[in-house]
Amino acid sequence: MSTGALPWEPPPAVDVEALPAGKWWDAVRAAPTVGERALEMLGDATGAVIQDKYGTLYWLVAVGSATSWHLRQVRVLAELADECSYLGVPPNSWTTPPGTHWCVPLSVDHYLTDAFKLWGALAEADRAVLGPVPQGRQTCYRCELPTDEPVIVDVEHGGSGAGRTIYACPPHARTYQRDPVAEAAAMRRALDRGRTR
Ligand SMILES: [Zn+2]
Repeated sequence: MSTGALPWEPPPAVDVEALPAGKWWDAVRAAPTVGERALEMLGDATGAVIQDKYGTLYWLVAVGSATSWHLRQVRVLAELADECSYLGVPPNSWTTPPGTHWCVPLSVDHYLTDAFKLWGALAEADRAVLGPVPQGRQTCYRCELPTDEPVIVDVEHGGSGAGRTIYACPPHARTYQRDPVAEAAAMRRALDRGRTR
């Protein structure tokens, strides 16, 4: 297969290079257990996939096609108004582990993944691996309306060790993520790290 016919390829590099999301593609990051299940479900429908040394999987999707997703253990790397996300992209020829590699190599037939199909596979994998979304319907901390797609945005720890979970509806979860309060951001990062291990 001629590499000249590839729909896209990373700029020439000898190592993993941080490339900005939102320019050629957005990236969908999934924790290993959910990601591998979704990859199986997608079968031939998957596009190119990068896997990092921790087993985390990254799909490339059309810019803007996945920005309102809220799935557990899944994050969308996209260009936001106030920040830019970068994805570590390995050279084209790196197709074997260990280390960051193309788990599904770029080819004429494999580049962007259809975001709708990817969402379906990840949502199904999410339920299969993690069980039902906890406690179902919850009240958004901000608009105080019930939501069927609660997103856990924070956990406040009380003195006794019991935590109070804070939920948001998907639109307000995005707002909450941009809250400048450093403490909340730090806690969220800690939770993120915990979830992807
Ligand atoms: Zn809300």
